[in-house]
Amino acid sequence: MSRPRVVVAGLGDTGVLTAVRLGRRYDVVGVSVKPGLVSGQELGHRLTDPERWAQDYRFGFDRLRGLDRVRVVHGELTGVDLGQRSVEVQRPDGSTERHGYDVLVISTGVTNGFWRRPVLESPAEVDAGIRAHHERLAAASSIAVVGGGAAAVSTAANAARVWPEKRVALYFPREAALPQHHRRIWSHLRPRLEELGVGLHAGHRAQVPPDPDRITAGPVRFSTGQDDAPADAVVWAVGRTRPNSGWLPDSVIDDDGFVRTDRDLTVPGADGVFAIGDVAATDPLRSSARNFTYRLLVSNIHAHLDGKPLKAWKPPRRRWGSVIGLQPDGTTIYAPDGRPFRVPRLPWVRVMQPWVTNRLIYRGVRRAR
Ligand SMILES: Cc1cc2nc3c(=O)[nH]c(=O)nc-3n(C[C@H](O)[C@H](O)[C@H](O)COP(=O)(O)OP(=O)(O)OC[C@H]3O[C@@H](n4cnc5c(N)ncnc54)[C@H](O)[C@@H]3O)c2cc1C
Repeated sequence: MSRPRVVVAGLGDTGVLTAVRLGRRYDVVGVSVKPGLVSGQELGHRLTDPERWAQDYRFGFDRLRGLDRVRVVHGELTGVDLGQRSVEVQRPDGSTERHGYDVLVISTGVTNGFWRRPVLESPAEVDAGIRAHHERLAAASSIAVVGGGAAAVSTAANAARVWPEKRVALYFPREAALPQHHRRIWSHLRPRLEELGVGLHAGHRAQVPPDPDRITAGPVRFSTGQDDAPADAVVWAVGRTRPNSGWLPDSVIDDDGFVRTDRDLTVPGADGVFAIGDVAATDPLRSSARNFTYRLLVSNIHAHLDGKPLKAWKPPRRRWGSVIGLQPDGTTIYAPDGRPFRVPRLPWVRVMQPWVTNRLIYRGVRRAR
């Protein structure tokens, strides 16, 4: 009997975590515009210390043991036929191919600033982009970071730590940054940023340029009346996300272009179709990108193919986890109620990353050659 066919559309953070768990039971095809996992996580580390960042957040697909049984197709999804159950993929050489499925997982994420763009790239192009963004900031003597979310806070904190000689400022529109996290988290991080010398500018709503998907030169202008802020380099981390759903029919997307998704991660009206991650309209915080939701997805795919009932999921009300990532004294994880818990650097690097993240979460990562 032939095995069920699963197509994982988009091999980013959630697509990879799903695909590595399916290859044993199904014929899995994973489609990706990127030649490997290029995680959207930890922007601050990626910009300030890209080589160290790449050790944990950028893997060639051949390094992920769980993908050994997955056929990875490098190309861009250009369409889906929900009736015929097949997706269309355009390969880098311009040719197109179709892949049939019994289950389709939509995990194409969002476009979010210069660091997350759904363009077809070779490994050399990915490396060149990451290097160019780092060099742009390294060459600046003053850096303005615009935005109040985790990406902005992480960028400002890590830039100030790695380059203490630069002037680093963070501009955010409300009284406190991190509005999607518990307020305790900003209260805990604020003094840390001040210690690092980050200039904190609350109540500053910047006028976003028409093309914020790149690092620009200053000055930053504000619609809230303050003077222009000069800066050699401006990082726009303003959360202006656009779903990567142009390849999908209107019947499965909502008015904002996100994929309509039920609490069991199925897409209503499209049998055998699931969605996860930033593209899935599960809840305002897009919580299925985090919180180990890939586990529920995998178990619901098994249930769907075995004719069993699916389980539903309750998204958390707040974001939690690390915000500024690994620091010289370790990594601080914030619980949903905002309480911090610090794992010292050595256990993080020697135990958490290799054993918990690489072995248990990613199902085995080979050493880089
Ligand atoms: C601890 C932590 C820290 C974080 N830090 C940050 C941060 O600093 N900055 C930030 O922005 N987010 C951050 N995030 C958020 C995180 O990066 C995203 O939530 C996560 O990447 C979402 O995963 P995804 O699979 O939905 O999307 P992605 O990881 O973006 O994966 C989608 C993939 O699909 C590909 N794709 C898109 N369209 C197509 C197509 N048509 N054909 C083929 N492939 C396509 C994309 O190129 C991409 O490779 C963090 C999250 C956590 C848990």
